[in-house]
Amino acid sequence: MDTCRFTRLAIASLTFSAIASVAAAAPAGRCPSEAVDEMLRGTRESALRWDRVPELTVLLPVMQYEKGRSTDFRATGSTLTEDEAKALVADLTKALAVLTDNAMTQFSAIHFETAATGEIVNVMRPGQIVVARYEGVRDQLATVGFGGQSAHGRTIRAGSIILDNDFDRASKTRTLLRMHELGHALGYNHVQSRVSIMNPKIGAGPTDVDRAIARVAFRDAEPASCAIPVG
Ligand SMILES: [Zn+2]
Repeated sequence: MDTCRFTRLAIASLTFSAIASVAAAAPAGRCPSEAVDEMLRGTRESALRWDRVPELTVLLPVMQYEKGRSTDFRATGSTLTEDEAKALVADLTKALAVLTDNAMTQFSAIHFETAATGEIVNVMRPGQIVVARYEGVRDQLATVGFGGQSAHGRTIRAGSIILDNDFDRASKTRTLLRMHELGHALGYNHVQSRVSIMNPKIGAGPTDVDRAIARVAFRDAEPASCAIPVG
C-alpha cells in the first residue's frame, strides 16, 4: 500500500537554541546513533529510500495551498521568473549532493512545467520530486514548508516539496528550507538529538552528523561503523 506523508518545517524560534545547546553537549567522536535512528527511521520500522535517482519537476506557477488537499493543488496566476526557477534547481541540485553524500550529484532529469491559472496539478508523481512555491502555507499552517514522499513498502516512489511563497521568495535562509524539504522527499525525518539540517526548526545548515548519516543512508555504510569524528 502506498503511504503518503508530509512533514512540516516550523519557523525559527527560541526553541532552536535549546536544541543546539543540548546537542553541543553530546560527546564528540561517537557514532551519532540516536541521530541516525531519528533521521533514517523516525517512527517507522525501517528507513525509506529511493531505488533510482529522481527527476526534478519545477512548477513555474505559484500554487494555491489549501488545507485538506495533499497532492492536488490549483495554479494561481503568478509564476516564477526564469532566473528564480534556475536558482531553485541549482539550490536543490547542490542540496541533493550534500544530502546523499554525493551518491546523487544530479537529478536524472529536470522539467519546467507550466499550468493555466486555476488548473489542478498533481504534485506526487512516480519517479519525480515536484517542487513549487505555494500561497497561503504560512497563513494556514504557521509553517514555511513541507516535504513529503509516497512510498511502497520501503521504496520511495514520489516526492513533493511545498515552499511557502513569501518565505521562499524573500528569506535569506531559503536555501536551508529547500535543503530541509528535499531531505523529507529523500526519506529523512526530523532530528532532535543533534544540530542538523533536519532539525524541525529552521536555522542549522548541514553538519558533519548529517554527512555521516547521508553516508549510512546512501553509501550503505553500517551505522555501527560510523566512527566518524563529530563535533
Ligand atoms: Zn521538516
